Amino acid sequence: KLRFPHEPEYLQAVEEVLTTIEEEYNRHPEFERYNLIERLCLPDRIFSFRVSWVDDKGKVQNNMGYRIQHNNAIGPYKGGIRFHSSVNQSILKFLAFEQTFKNSLTTLPMGGGKGGSDFSPRGKSDMEVMRFCQAFMEELWRHIGPDTDVPAGDIGVGGREVGYMYGMYKKMAREFTGTFTGKGLEFGGSLVRPEATGYGNVYFLLNMLATRNIGIKDKVVAISGSGNVATYTAQKLIELGAKVITMSDSDGCIYVPEGLTKVQLDYIFKLKNEYRGRIREFAEEYGCEYVEGGRPWGYKCDIAMPSATQNELDGDDARMLLSNGCIAVSEGANMPSTPEAIKEFLKAKILYAPGKAANAGGVSVSGLEMAQNSQKLSWSAEEVDAKLKGIMASIHEQCQKYGKESDGYTNYVKGANVAGFMKVARAMMAQGIL
Ligand code: NDP
Repeated sequence: KLRFPHEPEYLQAVEEVLTTIEEEYNRHPEFERYNLIERLCLPDRIFSFRVSWVDDKGKVQNNMGYRIQHNNAIGPYKGGIRFHSSVNQSILKFLAFEQTFKNSLTTLPMGGGKGGSDFSPRGKSDMEVMRFCQAFMEELWRHIGPDTDVPAGDIGVGGREVGYMYGMYKKMAREFTGTFTGKGLEFGGSLVRPEATGYGNVYFLLNMLATRNIGIKDKVVAISGSGNVATYTAQKLIELGAKVITMSDSDGCIYVPEGLTKVQLDYIFKLKNEYRGRIREFAEEYGCEYVEGGRPWGYKCDIAMPSATQNELDGDDARMLLSNGCIAVSEGANMPSTPEAIKEFLKAKILYAPGKAANAGGVSVSGLEMAQNSQKLSWSAEEVDAKLKGIMASIHEQCQKYGKESDGYTNYVKGANVAGFMKVARAMMAQGIL
């Protein structure tokens, strides 16, 4: 805290992990001798750089770019790139720290990293986005590589941005390798990668519900966000017969009490990916309730799946969800619940899955994309989806193994943190002081 007083998100993420692993950590005095915690809390290295690019009016614009290489004890650095006006070093450090433990849970050999820029693609033309991506990559390319550091998408970085960045990487590095994941299918992308985070979250939820013999059919689900994670979460839920009653963006929230239909969800896909519009336009098209500046947590639902951004669900929201009868929360976003909200969920002993476990499907299929690229072949959608289901089940199992409490309740926060930490810690111990 003394070292990073101006990095609240980073301190929040570190504190959550450290408080939950304390008991297990104390069983291993050798960790303390090797000062493992401090080594894990300081990223291996951070690159930060200026990105200058020319907008459509011919004016030069400047943004900051970053890449945090947090830890590579179990594999090459791996983690997304975020383009959003709120991006700063604290947010990327928290995401890279979380990513290290998440990647450890996936069972695949991937270390943790994250990067991004305070550039926002919102409202920019296609050419402006391309020029920015190229300028960003002109600097970053020398620090990444298929066995060094493999970026992917995140908020504000979808297929279009990955395509532009990968193109520039390929040109600068003069190689065609799997240095990015989330690529287009025509140039090395994996089937099911776009769907993976949302689908994986639903698979994790199904595993949790099964422990209480609860089915998903007809369950009422509140989702936040309307980007990649939110839309594919909704798609899988609708396919399984659940009712998705809300979606949102940073301007507001729609409420559809009878549940979104497939056709309506397709409209949202188009709205977001083709027209690059706002969720308000869905309400205008279908005449449903829209609350400007609203969030989905005040509506009656069985399950909440926050899938927009960090700290989007606070203590009051959690109490409201619980008083409305919510039985499960499964996080698509990274750290969407504040510490106070998490306390409420754990106190009420509902099924609560932290993002680190529940949204690990995205990076898992990224890991599968890396494997396919190395072999220079591609697997069918069925094959990837089956592997994704297997990985989510294995993450669930690890959470249960390390998170079961004496009264039988599974604390998934503790389970995910301890399981993720132990693997990284053992690898660091085995590799010596670096
Ligand atoms: P997208 O950019 O596709 O969508 C983000 C959505 O969240 C948009 O609806 C956006 O609204 C909304 N949002 C973003 N910032 C805010 C904010 N400050 N307040 C309210 N709403 C906001 O991103 P993704 O769907 O990829 O990512 C969503 C979350 O999931 C993030 O936390 C990300 O880290 C996490 N995640 C993503 C993975 C992936 O594979 N993509 C993997 C694992 C986790 P608007 O359009 O108005 O900005």
